Amino acid sequence: MRFLIDGLVLLALGLSTYAEAKRGLFFALFDLIRIVIGLALGFAAFSLLHRMSGSYPAGFAAFGVAALIGIFGVRALLHALRLDPAWGRLPAARFLGGLLGLLLGCLISAVFVPVIGRSGWGREAVPRSSLARPFLDAAPTLYYVADAVNLDFPMLNARAVRFEDEGRGAEATLVDRINYSRLDGSTCIECGSAVHFDGYFRRVGVSVSPRFTCPQCGRMSDGCQTFEGFHEMYGRCPTDVCREIGPIDCGVWPNGRPVMPYGVCPIDG
Ligand SMILES: [Zn+2]
Ligand SMILES: [Zn+2]
Ligand SMILES: [Zn+2]
Repeated sequence: MRFLIDGLVLLALGLSTYAEAKRGLFFALFDLIRIVIGLALGFAAFSLLHRMSGSYPAGFAAFGVAALIGIFGVRALLHALRLDPAWGRLPAARFLGGLLGLLLGCLISAVFVPVIGRSGWGREAVPRSSLARPFLDAAPTLYYVADAVNLDFPMLNARAVRFEDEGRGAEATLVDRINYSRLDGSTCIECGSAVHFDGYFRRVGVSVSPRFTCPQCGRMSDGCQTFEGFHEMYGRCPTDVCREIGPIDCGVWPNGRPVMPYGVCPIDG
């Protein structure tokens, strides 16, 4: 099955390179620009509708409509202005257009490779495909970009919904994205120090996890071993959860020493 993934990546790269070389540099540039505009409009519309209605489908519908308006609006504008400069079709411009097409194909692959890799047969095939590997390695970059613009968009993720299931390889579902970069400096549940956000790292298969380390006691976690992170991820206070299930450790980056939360929770005391 991994050859099917290789084939899909080749197809995406080949088709977009060919299409943009044919369209030439001028239109290739505008294709990239209108995709960026379409995505920006789409994300803004999603955020608005999702906040108003609280539903993912409503947000996705808004995303689709706004993105299409952006993508085809720019095209209609170019058409209306009758812009089609001759330099855009020079051989060198076609070559550069093809390079932009290749870049576009890479962006498309960077999105669809991790999505296929999270479900069904893709979970085995994607990590073994040699053409998919660079896109998996690049996946953490998308997380940093999303954090930097504080993107309000759900993620297809295998993150556990209850702490008790953490690290058990749950089925991937849509979950609210958490801005882990902003949890830098959260309070360690073992010693009460401010933890350091190390970044996003690929773990098993296609999954990417955030990692935090406490500079004082060395405790590592995906954020769940901090008061603020636990609240954000599981919507409960770690102090309350530990009262029910006893000492806890991170299921993603285990420390081998379960602890009871130390001191007072800075979120809800
Ligand atoms: Zn600590
Ligand atoms: Zn709390
Ligand atoms: Zn954890």
